Amino acid sequence: MNVIMKFGGTSVADAEAMTRVINIVRDHITRHPSSTVPVVVVSAMSKVTDRLVETGRLAGERQGDEAAQLLSDLLTRHLGVAASLVEGDALKALQAQLTADFHALSAQVRQWALTGEVSPAATDTILAAGELASSRMVAAAFIQRGVRAAWVDARTVLVTDAEHAAAAPDTEATTERCRKLLASHTAVGEVPVLGGFIGATAAGVTTTLGRGGSDYSAAIFGACLDVDEIQIWTDVDGMLTADPRVVSDPRLVPELSFNEASELAYFGAKVLHPSTILPAVAKNIPVRILNSRRPEVRGTMITAEGRRDAGALTALACKRGVTVVNITSTRMLMAHGFLRRLFEVFERFKTAVDVVTTSEVSVSVTVDNTRRLEDIIRNLRTFAEVSTESDMAIVCVVGENLRSDPTLFARAVTTLQHIPLRLVSQAGSRRNITFVIRDGDAPDAMNLLHDELFGAPVAS
Ligand code: ASP
Ligand code: MG
Repeated sequence: MNVIMKFGGTSVADAEAMTRVINIVRDHITRHPSSTVPVVVVSAMSKVTDRLVETGRLAGERQGDEAAQLLSDLLTRHLGVAASLVEGDALKALQAQLTADFHALSAQVRQWALTGEVSPAATDTILAAGELASSRMVAAAFIQRGVRAAWVDARTVLVTDAEHAAAAPDTEATTERCRKLLASHTAVGEVPVLGGFIGATAAGVTTTLGRGGSDYSAAIFGACLDVDEIQIWTDVDGMLTADPRVVSDPRLVPELSFNEASELAYFGAKVLHPSTILPAVAKNIPVRILNSRRPEVRGTMITAEGRRDAGALTALACKRGVTVVNITSTRMLMAHGFLRRLFEVFERFKTAVDVVTTSEVSVSVTVDNTRRLEDIIRNLRTFAEVSTESDMAIVCVVGENLRSDPTLFARAVTTLQHIPLRLVSQAGSRRNITFVIRDGDAPDAMNLLHDELFGAPVAS
């Protein structure tokens, strides 16, 4: 089995975490002796990217000394972790490399701080330091512990456009580089270790994919190399049937479809951001979420078709603190162009709407960003009556089985019979039912739905 293993910031947070990574990778290689060795993608150590963002901000405020101090603190943290992972000449080489990288960046940052002009390209150069450093450390640690590995500069592999902070991959060019720079190592049994999140333009200018972009990198490399599975190693067991802060006994979701994952993520479930796994969806490559602290747990598998067993539903999601905007027009609603006009107002003020329901005389939408709400209302009032309700919540029941089992809809609604439902919608996909209720009712509603649709907790 050919896999990409991506380890997030908490999975490489310190020497202990990195040691777990080594064991996981070694274990995989031992258990799959006839497979190609995995490609390993790592995030920056946890919190490092935040500090680098701060570094860029300080440089922009011409605070060169403070920015350089932050980098120096980060270097100290990395050197410390390196010292407890690697020893001897390998440690010396690693520390010299880390020091050289951070010092070079520091000199650049001081330069930018002189004018306070930190371009998007400069910001990406600063942010890239986290993944470059963590990947160098993990690669060195692998070698030290007897796992054959090679550090690869992710910027030479992931070719992107020049949209800094939100770069998009050039798939063709990246595929070619993956073959040349990654597959060449795996072919001889060496694990390529590279940073996620970062890339470079064809001209070699450093770019980043956007915060949290390491998953995206893993999906891109996985798609380019046509692997059998993309593993996303994190600090939770996988996707849960509900947010454990809201529902007391959520279960692990063993398997779900890409579409379910998208709907759940959209409504606030803590799961991979759907856009980040798009390259995997396109190539029909399964993505598995795993816990690096508990590698024995089987995790959650996201595939194109989802679960094949006949369970009821997949999961619940909940988005708190949303506002409902009701737009009423007795005269105009059915007139053509009304809906376009209405949505144009939201568009103009760059406000996304989540749930939309319509009746003969009114349209209700929910928004979670109320920053431009006053402007929106003022504009809507030029052609309709408008009222709003704040402190609302969206509760969303998701499952492919909603398509095939009509009783599920009835059961969900019946379960909530004592909770005032403001809006109810089932989209054409029939993969989810969405309820808009008072925010204060959300915990009750989630627990009631969970008990009804996922059964009483199983003793374990
Ligand atoms: N280190 C980057 C971030 O924190 C990318 C990632 O972790 O996925 O946003
Ligand atoms: Mg991260």
